[in-house]
Amino acid sequence: MMQLTCRFRLYPSRAQERKLLAALDQCRWLYNHFLEKLNQKEDGRTPSRYKLQATLPKLKQEHPELKQVHSKVLQMVLHHLYSNLRALTGLKRNGRKVGRLRFKGRGWFKSFTYSQSGFKITEGHGKRRELWLSKIGPIPIVTHRDINGETKQVHIKREHSGKWFACFSVKVEATSKLKKISKPVGIDLGIEHYIADTDGNFVEHPHNITKSEWKLKREQYRLSRKRKNSKNWVKQCTKLALIHERIRNQRLDFLHKLSRDYVDDYDFIATEDLDVKELIEKAHNGKNRADAAWATFLHMLTYKAERAGRWVVKVEPRGTTDRCSKCDEVVEKPLWMRIHKCPRCGLELDRDLNAARNILQDGLEQVGWEPAEFTPVEIGPLLARASSAVEAGSPLR
Ligand SMILES: [Zn+2]
Repeated sequence: MMQLTCRFRLYPSRAQERKLLAALDQCRWLYNHFLEKLNQKEDGRTPSRYKLQATLPKLKQEHPELKQVHSKVLQMVLHHLYSNLRALTGLKRNGRKVGRLRFKGRGWFKSFTYSQSGFKITEGHGKRRELWLSKIGPIPIVTHRDINGETKQVHIKREHSGKWFACFSVKVEATSKLKKISKPVGIDLGIEHYIADTDGNFVEHPHNITKSEWKLKREQYRLSRKRKNSKNWVKQCTKLALIHERIRNQRLDFLHKLSRDYVDDYDFIATEDLDVKELIEKAHNGKNRADAAWATFLHMLTYKAERAGRWVVKVEPRGTTDRCSKCDEVVEKPLWMRIHKCPRCGLELDRDLNAARNILQDGLEQVGWEPAEFTPVEIGPLLARASSAVEAGSPLR
């Protein structure tokens, strides 16, 4: 079993939106209330989740407006608070510097969650569908695909642009793993090339969003000329949020197409373990070069592959750049050197391609297959994979 998330746009009426906003605000209040209780620490210990949950009925009596929110939704607020807390403790354990959980101001609390009960998709008028939410009512929803599988939870989310979305967490059956590998590929996440693979495909950095970026700059400038919190300022904020959203959508679109292409074309995909890569590159370059969009790409690749019965294997990224993919000789090279040239066996090829080959070999070894044989790829003008998709957003923040 695996978990998938399907995200659909909601079109609430004015009255429904007021209810949604009120629910959001109640949840925010509750989150802050419980966070305060956590920080108070009765007799030096963090109170347990169940202890706090047990205070809910009394809280509802003292604050009747909480009754306007489905009871499970209120419980989920507590659930989120504790998972945030756990994430923070986890980071601390790994020796990272972390702050503490913050109180959420207006605008910083953007979603609430129905779990197990209080929601249902129904057929509305004609072909229109509706998402019925307890205490809120049936909201028109646009589902561009069917949700096959068991829905455990639905997150109701408000974006800064003012649009509402429903994100369904769905459990689906993963197709059984393949038994034979016939088309393997290794993928290197590079600095010069966004992606290089063992078949000699290079994907360039998808940051040619000059048009959107230029617009962004212009609107940001306009915002800076407006008086903070004035009516026009608020209007301008929404405008900016819409541009940000469009850029993000372009980027997601690009990554969806790219990951779809790989899953369609190959049955075994070896990539680097991004968590480790990030650590290494942080240590070496003093700044974080690992790209946020890579994580998204790998995530998409993994769940698409899992559904389609393909294999995605993550390998240790250490040494994949310097090692010769033909004879294992370590050939150290500075960042600017784009070619791997082996003094021992004479192999000469693009450095990212060499890395991709090492990644594939390591990946195949991991699952007990003989290292792949490669046909030499010439260095020169190379094919750009998914070039049609490079209409995309910047992966760099
Ligand atoms: Zn060599």
